[in-house]
Amino acid sequence: MSETCFCGKPAIIFLHYASKALCEQHFVYMFDKRFRKTIREYKLLKKGDRIAIGLSGGKDSCVLLHSLAEIKKSLPIELVAVTIDEGIKGYRDKTLKIAKRECEAFGIEHVVFSYQGDVGKTMDEIVAGSPEDIPCSNCGVLRRYLLNRGAREVGANKLATGHNLDDIAQMVFMNFMRNEPSRLARFNEPMVKSDRLIPRIRPLMRTPEKEVAIYAMLKGIELESMECPYARFAFRGHVRKMVNEAEEKYPGTKFKIVNTFFEIEDTLRDKYGKGAALNSCSSCGEPCSKEICMYCKKLTIITSKS
Ligand code: SF4
Repeated sequence: MSETCFCGKPAIIFLHYASKALCEQHFVYMFDKRFRKTIREYKLLKKGDRIAIGLSGGKDSCVLLHSLAEIKKSLPIELVAVTIDEGIKGYRDKTLKIAKRECEAFGIEHVVFSYQGDVGKTMDEIVAGSPEDIPCSNCGVLRRYLLNRGAREVGANKLATGHNLDDIAQMVFMNFMRNEPSRLARFNEPMVKSDRLIPRIRPLMRTPEKEVAIYAMLKGIELESMECPYARFAFRGHVRKMVNEAEEKYPGTKFKIVNTFFEIEDTLRDKYGKGAALNSCSSCGEPCSKEICMYCKKLTIITSKS
């Protein structure tokens, strides 16, 4: 491993997938350049956009906030941060404080929606009332729903999330392993457009998680190292381990998985988009493909338990 950047300065990182060592200055330059290139190539932003940033207060969403605030200096866009407070004691309360501080530092409006306020229960209470359920299977549905509705309520036309390259590689594998190709097909874009479904953008989707963490440290972003206490029950944890092991042995694996997904995405959309329809949930009126949306189904089960 080379310990010197091509400029002669000491390297702070070695990118195995590119066989390249970079000093702090060139790492930050490469990071920012890739962020802008992803936005340009995938046409993620345009003048006049009002972007809701899904801000958990973790490293990925905080870096996303920093990088979008930087873009805003040269592109007239509006930014508003939306945080979903699941109500996980000792975890979300810490990242909420970080999210609040980051928004104050950049003068960005910050709106918080909570499970307590909408579902009537915190995630801790939901887990206590449904010990047989995998927490993330409830939490994921509730959060996706509230993020979409929250982004709409703050008047955003796009919802930016901090998903990085690792997240996307894991998502691809999870959908393969669950035999859910139709979910893969609509990952980047809903099959049917609706004013009520806020399109999602993921400007960090080509950036490895490790690089997001290093960038966050270099930019002085406060990092909360604690993981969600319920994460250990998640299927994602197994997939993450598998993908990380493959990357360790075969550098560049994560890029290859994501690149392959982008290559086959249109084919998947052609196959699974046929006949796709969008209804309004008969209970809450939000867009969904069935008569009742997943959020309302979960809500009925969750509220029926003590
Ligand atoms: Fe929710 Fe699971 Fe994420 Fe914890 S790890 S915040 S329970 S989705």
